[in-house]
Order: sequence, then C-alpha cells, then structure tokens
Amino acid sequence: MGFSFDLQATDGSARTGVINTPRGDIRTPAFMPVGTAATVKAMMPESVRETGADILLGNTYHLMLRPGAERMAALGGLHKFMNWPRPILTDSGGFQVMSLAGLRKLTEKGVTFKSHIDGSKHELTPERSMEIQALLGSDIVMCFDECPALPATDEEVARAMRLSMRWAERSKVAFGDRPGHALFGIMQGGVTQELREESAKALVEIGFDGYAVGGLAVGEGQEAMFGVLDYACDSLPKDQPRYLMGVGKPDDIVGAVKRGIDMMDCVLPSRSGRTGQVFTRYGQLNIKNARHMDDTRPLDEACSCPACRNYSRAYLHHLFRSQEILSSMLLTWHNLQYYQDIMNEMRGAIANGNFAQWEENFHAGCAQGDIDPL
Ligand SMILES: [Zn+2]
Repeated sequence: MGFSFDLQATDGSARTGVINTPRGDIRTPAFMPVGTAATVKAMMPESVRETGADILLGNTYHLMLRPGAERMAALGGLHKFMNWPRPILTDSGGFQVMSLAGLRKLTEKGVTFKSHIDGSKHELTPERSMEIQALLGSDIVMCFDECPALPATDEEVARAMRLSMRWAERSKVAFGDRPGHALFGIMQGGVTQELREESAKALVEIGFDGYAVGGLAVGEGQEAMFGVLDYACDSLPKDQPRYLMGVGKPDDIVGAVKRGIDMMDCVLPSRSGRTGQVFTRYGQLNIKNARHMDDTRPLDEACSCPACRNYSRAYLHHLFRSQEILSSMLLTWHNLQYYQDIMNEMRGAIANGNFAQWEENFHAGCAQGDIDPL
C-alpha cells in the first residue's frame, strides 16, 4: 500500500480528507504535535494518540545530533525507538540549523555548522538530509531548504528561494523511489506574490507527493501570513496535501484551514503547557494567576482530557506554583486535546458545509474570554 491523498469535501477554500499511509490514516485538516527529541515533552506517546493525533513531527536537526541518525537506524528507527507506530513527518533540518546552530557556512552544496550541544562540526546537504530522514524511518520527508532570517531584502529572499528550488531538485533525486514514503516540496518566497508563484511553479514541475508553505510564522504577523495563504494555496495542486509549517496559535490554524491548508505543526500547545498557558474555547488563561487558587471547577467543563475530567483549577494552580512535573503533564495534555478537538470540529464542519458558522462560533467563544471567577 502506498501513499495517497483522498480529498473528501470542500467548503469554500477549506478542505477535509484523508492521507493514506502504510502506517495509518491521517485525517485532514491535521494538527501534528511536535516530538522534537523523539518525545512530545511531558507526554507518553499513547497519551498523545488518545488526544486524537494521527501523526507526529520529528526534528532532523535535533535527532541527527542526538542520538544520531545511524544509531537511530541501528536501534530500529524512530517509530520503534519512541514507541509511536503511526505516521511521522520529519523536517529537513534546514530551518533549525539557521535558528539554533553556531558558525554556519552556507554554500551551493549545503550548510556546515557547529552543534549547539557540543560544538561538533556537521554538514547538511539535500543528499545528507534525505539520507538522515530515511535512516530515521520518516513517513513524510521534507525537502532540504533555506529559510532566510527576517528581516531580509527582496533580493535575499529571492536568492534563498531559488537556492531552495535547486536543493528541492537534488532532494527529489536523492530521495529516489521509496514506495509508501512521501516527499514534500517547500514553497519559499517570503511575502512576495511573484516569488511565491515562481517557487510553486518550480516545485510542481519537479513533482512532489505534497507541498508545504515554508518561511511563514517567522515574525511577519498574522495578516501578512493570511495574505500569502490567500494566493499560495491556489498555486498548488488541488489533489495533493498542503502543509503550513510551524503554525500556530488556534486562530492562525483556523484561518489557515479556511484558506485551504491541510496540515500544520507547532510547539505552542506543548510548550505553553509547560509555562502555565492554557487554551480553551474561551481563549487563553494563565493557571499561575491567583484567581484560580480556590476555584474548584475544571479548566473547561466540556473537555474530555484527564486534567479537566479529574482535577480542579485550584489543584492545577497549586501544581504549577509548586513546580511539580505533573503540572506540565496535565496542562500539555489539555492543550493538545484542545488543538485536536478543534481540528476534529473543523473536519466535521467542512464535511457538513457549515464551516463559516463554526468559525463564527469559534471567534465568539475566544472573544468571550475565560469564565468569570467564582
Ligand atoms: Zn482539558
């Protein structure tokens, strides 16, 4: 059985469908929790699955440095290593080399850099990135690209985009023929429509199993991001999945789905869980706040997660203030549950043709704000 995308319904530009892989189906629009170092922090993989996640994201940059791609392969691959038998998407490493590594040197061939962990020297090229992602056992492999740091001039954005297109071609050749595994191209071009369309055209000519919109959520703001998505999705094939990388807040995700995005990933729900930030139907709350100290109610009475089913705000507040590990576990679970719940609701709304109504209710709930203190 191979990799395929079955588009089942559309409502406006929003779409719902299923990506079929040998490791299981991915219902779209899909939110992918981030398992940076072969773990979604503070969560057992079976708990991540319980929230409704069909696929996780792994970071090539982190895993190549520790434990190392060859070691991972010898240990049976990333799925077995972390006990997640379902689909995994890995990024190419390019973005994190740019944001985390020291002493980078970029050439036509690739990037050399020093590890942020121990200072050791490494090289990433399109060919090596494909090799590492194959060693990890990734189901959805991302092309090696360069995401320029912002702010950048138009010339710099254009140069990085054209280099990324040459690297996309090399990635495709290096990926080869791997039935059941997919390779996604990554559109670049900043917030300039001509560059985005040039990038999309170059990628479609090479031909990929899916297409990502890269280089967004890097500080351009929601309005500029939506502006790009308004035309970017139209330049990509209708019958293949579209992935918006590194996004985002709940309202970013809803706006992206509305514009035709099928897949997203972000550290926000898990990272926020560790810092006491909680997402609910009524916007965001901070569990650290003293107003929760005597509050016997759950975070969200409609939520099915263990944090809401079994514990009060007062207890969660106490755990956080006491810096207890259970605080990170419960709040991460809740936030991931909230994200998966809105994805599930959006899939249903698109299938029923009432996405606009759902979106209106979503925004009304967020605008209402947290329930009044007791
Ligand atoms: Zn909950």
